[in-house]
Amino acid sequence: MMEHAETIHKGDGSGNEMVVRFRLPSGLEVFGLPTKNAYGGHWDLGPTWNYAVMSDRPFLVDAGKFGQGKRLLAMMEAGGITNTDLDFVLISHSHEDHDGGLAELIEATRLKVKAHAIYDQLIRHYPAQSPEPKKKHFPAKCWHCFMPESFYAKNCLDYHRVLQGLSVDVIGDGRTQLGSDVCTYHLPGHSPDCLAVRLGDEALIVGDIILPDISPWPTRKEMFAEVAQVIQPAYTKAAAIFGLSRYLQSLKTLIQVADDHPGLLVLPAHRLYYNDRWNPIDLADRSRQLLAHHIERCGAIVEILGGQPKTAEEIAEDYFEDRLLDGFGALMAANEIVSHCELLVDSGDVVTTGGNRYAASGSTQFETHIQALISDGMASKKRRRSWK
Ligand SMILES: [Zn+2]
Ligand SMILES: [Zn+2]
Repeated sequence: MMEHAETIHKGDGSGNEMVVRFRLPSGLEVFGLPTKNAYGGHWDLGPTWNYAVMSDRPFLVDAGKFGQGKRLLAMMEAGGITNTDLDFVLISHSHEDHDGGLAELIEATRLKVKAHAIYDQLIRHYPAQSPEPKKKHFPAKCWHCFMPESFYAKNCLDYHRVLQGLSVDVIGDGRTQLGSDVCTYHLPGHSPDCLAVRLGDEALIVGDIILPDISPWPTRKEMFAEVAQVIQPAYTKAAAIFGLSRYLQSLKTLIQVADDHPGLLVLPAHRLYYNDRWNPIDLADRSRQLLAHHIERCGAIVEILGGQPKTAEEIAEDYFEDRLLDGFGALMAANEIVSHCELLVDSGDVVTTGGNRYAASGSTQFETHIQALISDGMASKKRRRSWK
């Protein structure tokens, strides 16, 4: 896969500030522009890979984290792209490492912004509806955030203020055609507004929906209640846009995309290059690996709960290695466990008990439950194939 890649500027071993040109068989050029990210330690994602797609209407996908907008422009120039070459910037999802640099970028370029309709609603402030007083200066997308004030005061508040006035050209659910050979897929789960962008039969920019090496963080269904009043009436059910089940269904869609468009070059938002090497992804294989990973984790949680009821934090302590539980890691780990427990409650294998504890019900139906969640489209696909 990396035969398409030409390194124009060499970055560091994690890929920070590389400039890479991918020349696809049709002649279409895509630039990989990984900007520095804030998070280090054992949950390090590596830089954010932004991409410039030089199609008929050239566009940028993502804008890096807060403070990286101008840096991204400089990296584009190193690749021979000036901002007047670009038509718009598309935001893959509302996480700060992807839209943090947006205000700075727009101020410098006046580029139009495209994003999923949920993004347009979640970046706004609704002080009267904020779940707790200290969050009234946060946009709705950050009401669930569990990071401490020391983190968000330094990394986020300024950029939230600037994004308030942003006007967004919104993209809908399902598949949306953006040009003759460019389309988006709304694939929630990691975030309710995740988009993947397909470039004909040649490449798929997947944001954080699938990543090499690491398993993207799934949202929790319970996050819906907090923002429901902001995003209704379009979405009335948590499971339509939040939670692990929805994430697994998005993986199913990616497997179908891989089936319909074999050989896509997959361009993820983190770790395409990391630890001094490329990490190419096979779309169907990686999606299946991630499905298997989550099924396995569900099994491990049921086993951990075999003895006695436990809180998400206690399950996380049993499940994750100690080094992953340092500092913020403990919060990240517990979040992942809650996502899985929500699914296990749906499958009937886990029940909630007093004191925020989960207990095993004695059944192990999660695998059948997950297969049913992801089976519909796959079954009809197989049937169609056998007629060929
Ligand atoms: Zn993300
Ligand atoms: Zn990210």
